[in-house]
Amino acid sequence: MNVIETGTIGILESPTGTGKSLSIVCGVLTWLRQYYERNGIEKEKGTNEETDEPAWVTEFEDSLKKNQTEKAVERFARRRSLRQHRTLLNRVERSKTILETSSNKKHKRSHSGNFQDNKLVGADPDDEWLLSDTVFKDTSILSSEKEQLLTLGSGNEEMSEEEDECKELPRIYYCSRTHSQLLQFQEEVKRTIANMQWSEKVPRPSVLILSSRKNLCINEKVSSLSNANLINERCMELTSKEPGSPGCCPYYHLEGQRILRDHLSSEIVDIEELVNLGKERRACPYYGMKRAIKSSQFILLPYQSLLHKPTRESLRLPLHSNCIVIFDEAHHVVDALNDMYGAETNTQQIQSCLFGLKRYIDCYETRLSSLNLFMLRQFHSFLESLVQFSSLHLKIPPIDGETQNVFTVEDFVTRLGIDNLNIFKLNEFLESKCLHLKLIGLLKSRILSDSNGTDPCQGIHAVFHFVQTLKQPYSKSRIIVKFRKDIGCTFKMLVLHAANNLTEIISLVRSVVFVGGTLEPLRDIKLRLLGTFEDSHIVHCSFDHVIPDSHILPIIVSRGPTRVPLEFTYATRESEILIHELGRMLLNICRVVPGGVVVFFSSYSYCSYALNYLQQKDIWKLLLRQKAIFKEPQESLELNNVLDNYKKAVYEQQGGILFAVIGGKLSEGINFQDDLGRCIIVVGMPFPNHLSIELQESINYITGMFPSVSSKEILEDMCMKLVNQTIGRTIRHISDYGAVLLVDQRFARPAISNKLPKWLRRRLAFPDDFGWVLSSLAEFFRNFRKRV
Ligand code: SF4
Repeated sequence: MNVIETGTIGILESPTGTGKSLSIVCGVLTWLRQYYERNGIEKEKGTNEETDEPAWVTEFEDSLKKNQTEKAVERFARRRSLRQHRTLLNRVERSKTILETSSNKKHKRSHSGNFQDNKLVGADPDDEWLLSDTVFKDTSILSSEKEQLLTLGSGNEEMSEEEDECKELPRIYYCSRTHSQLLQFQEEVKRTIANMQWSEKVPRPSVLILSSRKNLCINEKVSSLSNANLINERCMELTSKEPGSPGCCPYYHLEGQRILRDHLSSEIVDIEELVNLGKERRACPYYGMKRAIKSSQFILLPYQSLLHKPTRESLRLPLHSNCIVIFDEAHHVVDALNDMYGAETNTQQIQSCLFGLKRYIDCYETRLSSLNLFMLRQFHSFLESLVQFSSLHLKIPPIDGETQNVFTVEDFVTRLGIDNLNIFKLNEFLESKCLHLKLIGLLKSRILSDSNGTDPCQGIHAVFHFVQTLKQPYSKSRIIVKFRKDIGCTFKMLVLHAANNLTEIISLVRSVVFVGGTLEPLRDIKLRLLGTFEDSHIVHCSFDHVIPDSHILPIIVSRGPTRVPLEFTYATRESEILIHELGRMLLNICRVVPGGVVVFFSSYSYCSYALNYLQQKDIWKLLLRQKAIFKEPQESLELNNVLDNYKKAVYEQQGGILFAVIGGKLSEGINFQDDLGRCIIVVGMPFPNHLSIELQESINYITGMFPSVSSKEILEDMCMKLVNQTIGRTIRHISDYGAVLLVDQRFARPAISNKLPKWLRRRLAFPDDFGWVLSSLAEFFRNFRKRV
């Protein structure tokens, strides 16, 4: 509440099982209620001190502000009640027949302006993919074609009206990484809202969960396509046609969108319910959801929808000084931003794209405007220069199978010999004309394949995405070119500091709150996301765990049963003595720990190496006598099977030991609560590969920006961030209990142990003797057995 009231940036840590989601929901809903109750009377903190205006001027401003807010609230409540009324009527009266009739009516109706200039519809089927002659330099014209393809299409007049009405209302954006987390949070919101008092003056906020076409599409011919890109494209193709016309998606019509919007404004529905409603009403759930955004106040959405500017703009998410943005699982935000704004393509994909572009130019050469033809040829030259660049470098024999080079975008463009090409203009052209859709459309309609017989559409996305990323600020990005004899060149856009994109959001909204079970080491978030903000503008709260101290036993294990020092560095970790000592240690632990033991290694390769060694020794047989043994599969498809068998062994047999990998499929998102994870063991420190050129470039950039921070510290932060997420699997609720063993003597160094979560740190033991570890474990679990 304090963070929201003061309009600062919050970093809130609260371990799993402590009621974090409920606290967030209660906090933001209380603020929302208070906002309405105050009706804008109370000025924002600090305004009085800052203004030199006479009292009568500030009073007048206050009353004006109050009136405006009251009117907005009234309008909003009126629309809400109208919508609820309309929804009720719809439920009773509206039938599929009515919809079909209205759809026919709409079909007859002229779509004045919206599609009149659209050259997608024509007598020749190939006209559909012809570029329009609109001059793309003029930004108003520039966006017209894109708008038709990317936004809601018909009915935008009503959208603008809604935008005007709703833009000043407070909004809460809750962002998380996965849909399952959004759904869990939605349940919490639903329960809390149902238990709060709402009235005309303090209206119940409408809650909306955003999802993609992939999850919401009900047109089977589209939803059955193999990936999200294809689904998006096919949908955009279909919805660019006149609604009701033979080529348009039958679920895409304004009446349907309104019905769903009204329903979403009055009820809190999840994705499955929305899909069912769409099927029932024969109306597209995706476009219904988009239409409901403007009137929703509590919006639950994946990171990408808010952080990725083009996606945010296409969804028309309003961001203003009455918005609050919450990022849950905030330790993922840095990586999410880097992934969103980075891109990679390769020679093969570029050649396929070139093939498609040549066919496109051949097909339309005589019918394209001179400007369009000029720009297409520029794009063609650009792609050709990439291919030439690859073949030139491939003549250099790669050392160790691969060579790599780093370029700034400026250098790269010069090396390609295209420094006279305006990349920004080229991008404007490609985006405004939606060339990739038209290229794919033409190639598909002609069923063309390139000289290798492969589908040229496959590479078009990757190539266009790569070209798009060349617009990044040159100083904050690098191009990594890797050469390999077997696959040719790969071109990777590396974003060094994606935080710019977040800074823009922070500057627009009232408050941004980063939330997580543990966000330690905090420096990672501060450097990579909030480096430009003063510490005084950031509020950090770290809450303790709800479990009593006696429920957790965290120990740094520095020596094994025969006193072999345990240190799993790159140089020592393959030592037979060390791995054997590890085996002995695991055997002893399995003898005293009940239920499930989960052992995390720092990489798949090391996990396999160590287990292969142990399997050949007698110790493996002894271990098998104690617990059933499982290993995290590399294939996602096998994961459920392994987990089911592990659960069975834990709950129905003698217990299980599961070998997994930090940062793999089991170190996040899977709960090892209760008997499933009575002991979590981390073997070694998962430092990232410091030889990676991408990592070196990122670190150089950060240390350049913040000279007081060393590359060693950054690497340690990255390592401990992974460790902290992994050990967060142990305690999942207030009655849970378990042990955490950090097996590597380097964990005992203060610079490392200080990066562990606070609640764990103060209970941490650093024994020098494995006997102490074993007796403590035995006593810890004996105490719980007694209580049962
Ligand atoms: S309009 Fe809706 S139902 Fe139709 S293809 Fe697009 S997402 Fe699918």
